[in-house]
Amino acid sequence: MFKIFIKTAPIITEDNENLRLKNKNINKIFWQKLNHFEKMLQENKHMSPQLYYKNIKDAHIHEAIKLNEEKSNDEGYFEAAKNYIWVKRKFHVYHELLHLSSSIVYNNLYYCGFSQETYHYTIGDGLNEGYTSLLEYRYFYYDGAEMCYELEMIIARLIEEIIGKNTMESLYFKADLFNLIKELEKYASYNEIYNFICKLDILSEILNSDILYYSLYPSIGILTKSILKFIEKCKIKKLNNDLQNNKITEEEYQEILNDFYDVTKDLCKKYNPMVLTRKKGLLNN
Ligand SMILES: [Zn+2]
Repeated sequence: MFKIFIKTAPIITEDNENLRLKNKNINKIFWQKLNHFEKMLQENKHMSPQLYYKNIKDAHIHEAIKLNEEKSNDEGYFEAAKNYIWVKRKFHVYHELLHLSSSIVYNNLYYCGFSQETYHYTIGDGLNEGYTSLLEYRYFYYDGAEMCYELEMIIARLIEEIIGKNTMESLYFKADLFNLIKELEKYASYNEIYNFICKLDILSEILNSDILYYSLYPSIGILTKSILKFIEKCKIKKLNNDLQNNKITEEEYQEILNDFYDVTKDLCKKYNPMVLTRKKGLLNN
């Protein structure tokens, strides 16, 4: 089987100065949100702000103005090659700023959070969108905000519970999928991790496509179950380690595992192909 070689992320050492105010291509209506975003980066010392500083100084940020932007099904977009963000609603700029703050274009490869992309392939998009949405929800959620990528977000959260919040947040802002896999290799083989990432990519592609892939709907249930099986294996291994090292008690072990099964049961119920087909059908009427 063709396998993508996951590359180590380039290290950004410069750009410790925030030159955002000198940038005339950022619409002022976003300044308040940008202040809020920078405050989040400053308050969380484990998040490296280098990629944000590097990219923000010559970024373009504006509301959707072009016809293709207004007509798009997306709420917003970050185009790394042009360092360009547009959003339909101001709130959505946080999601795109997270992409901007975790993006590097280097040696014809586009690193973005936990994804890597070339002209020939993309890998990690599902996990990356899920984790981006989790951070958006964690730091910028307001009541009534619409969240995208729900399934991917819950799966990313389950992965974060295994490797730890600060570690995963730190790796995200360095666009370091390579070391995320290294962290997960404490609990599963490289092949299992690689397959998990690819399955989440396919699942995310089916769920977020503009076209309704009815013929692919049965695979939603199969993919979801297979992904959760992988996470369960990692989870149990981690809990066993924690128990052996006296980090948790027997009761806590059981409690954490029960909570985990509650989440996975809900997901399987919600992402059942039958339920989804009915929901999509209703939306079309
Ligand atoms: Zn996104």
